Amino acid sequence: MEFAYRCTECDRQFDITPERMLCPDCAALQEENRPLRGTLEVRLSGELVPPWSAGNTAEPSGDGVRRFPYAQMLPVESRFFPSVPVGNSPLWEPDRLRKALGRPGIFLKDDTTNPTGSLKDRASLLVAAFARQHGIRDIVVASTGNAASSMAGIGAAAGLSVKIFVPVSAPRAKLVQSLQYGADVTVVDGTYDDAYRASMEYSTTHGGLSRNTAYNPLTIEGKKTVALEIFAQLGRMPDVVLVPTGDGVILGGVFKGFEDLIELGLAGTMPTVIAVQAEGSSAISRALDSGDFADPLPGKTVADSIAVGVPANGYAATKKLARYGGRCVEISDAAILDAQRALSSQSGLFAEPAAAASLAGLLASDAIPSDAVTVLLITGTGLKDIEAASRLVRLPE
Ligand SMILES: [Zn+2]
Repeated sequence: MEFAYRCTECDRQFDITPERMLCPDCAALQEENRPLRGTLEVRLSGELVPPWSAGNTAEPSGDGVRRFPYAQMLPVESRFFPSVPVGNSPLWEPDRLRKALGRPGIFLKDDTTNPTGSLKDRASLLVAAFARQHGIRDIVVASTGNAASSMAGIGAAAGLSVKIFVPVSAPRAKLVQSLQYGADVTVVDGTYDDAYRASMEYSTTHGGLSRNTAYNPLTIEGKKTVALEIFAQLGRMPDVVLVPTGDGVILGGVFKGFEDLIELGLAGTMPTVIAVQAEGSSAISRALDSGDFADPLPGKTVADSIAVGVPANGYAATKKLARYGGRCVEISDAAILDAQRALSSQSGLFAEPAAAASLAGLLASDAIPSDAVTVLLITGTGLKDIEAASRLVRLPE
């Protein structure tokens, strides 16, 4: 299998190197307060070597994604992956939730089981492997919390030094988690966008590989593994996938995984992908309606993991939604917290608010046939943000 970067705007191709993050032609058109221009995606070509026959030694043994049958669809060889069980997360068939909603085709893709408790580990794993491949020791990342704690944890497993910039609003649990993993954490008195700027300045002056989401193309590429697994676990493409959406990177990864399967002739048509956004953080949804991104509004929602003013991957995400007939649905914070409680009490899966947004999105989408094979992407554990989860329960005296 061969890999190259391709610009999501002009299709120009580049070699995959640590220095290459954006297409210089399109990045030159970058405007203030707009999504990133010139983001790259990995283009793969060639044929899969059937890796899952008995006795085949082409695939190294190990845990998680390293053992995943489609490891050869990733642009970094498995031998560089740190020994940490990312991916291969369970696909639940939640009986009681199915009955309660009259939807027998619901599945929960439970990415709370990743080592640091969120789907972001899929991106961190590939970035860490890439750093090891190129002998890079330092990683720099700005994050509202999950990407930071994820990079800290996977970086710890990989023996990398991780420098993190978080906005002052980041939930305490995610900060503590990052510090436990041994990361160097700087709290920025400002928004995510301020933390992002601080991280870019730092990597310009101090060096290190940036894991900033969408900016580093491997973040989207790593997240595609969730789509590959859904396909492998169902034995077919789902009919509908609901994806909690803030900056559009997980959304981009889900599309990319399904696209690769179609490209390689393993699957037929793209599922209906529904991007679920909070009403207070809905830049991608508004851009899909209006055709372009307007001046940003502050991303305000109880679901901190999908709170963003300027969605970094906004252009590529809306392009994919439009190309494949995807949709956006906007939901209120109250609906998110209700869905969090419903998911916990009817399936046994305690998800963070951003993750429960996929269930809230399903409840708000009446156009989905009741018997459709419908996958809810559960992107992070509820233990990441106990404050939000406390709102709808009463603690005993
Ligand atoms: Zn370009």
